[in-house]
Amino acid sequence: MGKIYLIDVTNRDGVQTAKLGLSKLEKTMINIYLNEMGIFQSEFGFPTTKHESLYLQANLELAEMGVLKPIRLQGWIRAITGDVETAFKLVPNIKHLNLSISTSDQMINGKFRGKKTKDDIINDMVQAIEAARDLGAETVGVNAEDASRTDLEFLIKFGLAAKEHGADRLRYCDTLGYDNPFTIYEATRALAENVGMPIEVHCHGDLGMAEANSVAGAKGIIDGGQDVYINTTINGIGERAGNADLVAVILAITKSKGFADKYQFGAPINLLKSAKTAEFASYAFGVPIPLNQPGVGANAFAHSSGIHADGVLKDPENYELYSFKELGRGKPKFVETGREIIAGQYSGISGFRHLMGAMEVSFSSKEEANEILELVRYANVESQKPLVEDQLLFIARYPKITKKLLTMTPLE
Ligand SMILES: [Zn+2]
Repeated sequence: MGKIYLIDVTNRDGVQTAKLGLSKLEKTMINIYLNEMGIFQSEFGFPTTKHESLYLQANLELAEMGVLKPIRLQGWIRAITGDVETAFKLVPNIKHLNLSISTSDQMINGKFRGKKTKDDIINDMVQAIEAARDLGAETVGVNAEDASRTDLEFLIKFGLAAKEHGADRLRYCDTLGYDNPFTIYEATRALAENVGMPIEVHCHGDLGMAEANSVAGAKGIIDGGQDVYINTTINGIGERAGNADLVAVILAITKSKGFADKYQFGAPINLLKSAKTAEFASYAFGVPIPLNQPGVGANAFAHSSGIHADGVLKDPENYELYSFKELGRGKPKFVETGREIIAGQYSGISGFRHLMGAMEVSFSSKEEANEILELVRYANVESQKPLVEDQLLFIARYPKITKKLLTMTPLE
């Protein structure tokens, strides 16, 4: 019986969202929170993009130090040999890669405009896998972009070629959110049965079905005899109408009618960190969590009408499928309503020492305090908003890594 794993793509698809972005420290915090939640893999960025290099290297160092463990950090590039070579040149210690190429007639005709045939697509992909293996990739996933608009026979051929040349997984991308739960079930099941390798589902919300399609796709893949890797983003942030929301997918798998009896995660998920993770992503992206967001929205456990309030007070199960406590909600929150000392890009040592002291962080010397403060200033320059407590603690704990995250030298 196949199992379900989660690959969160907030740090790749999420940050590709128009009008939004994250600082390198914020991306790092996202990786830390995903690791705490027990997420199998973070698609942590773009190894061919120069301004990501030091961020990616620093996060791989955190993995080696055991800070980002057991989560797997995987980079996203195009399935062409040139990208693979650039990735290993800029981030030599990268171990896990996903290689992406368009497979639909629409994309082949509309994007490549006669420059590539279907055979070229397979050849490019196969050569990219081989280059990645030669350069030391431990795992390689292959992404079929626009898979839901790709003729199934070609998709199977593409998958078989990927498998034959040593790919570990095939990603079925519903790039435009075109599928519905019935079509994605059929397609992913056929792929699992005919290709015979683990399959990822990558769903978008253009028709409002990203989570439903993810669950139906997962069922198709497991029924077809394979493990499934569902792609998610925190709060569903992603291109256009967004991706499948991480927390909603976890809830759908574990709480929906009869699903968990047969379809289960391959490793334990820590749902208790959900609220904190969703809140941080909301703050970092500058996008409020919708009031009615499953599990983490402000109204997810709010009752006002007489019948509902009475019912939930008598027995929460009358009107709630799961408890707010399971998501790490319900603890009192400290909100300062009086004087505030905030660390910013122009902060001085006195205010900073006061702030860190309140978090019970002390420094061994004046030099050390000044060094951490300087890093905090730079982190503020990069994110342009006050750092949260976890970020300040991270900087104090890992100053060398922070320096790397904040170092950028354009046009070198
Ligand atoms: Zn996507």
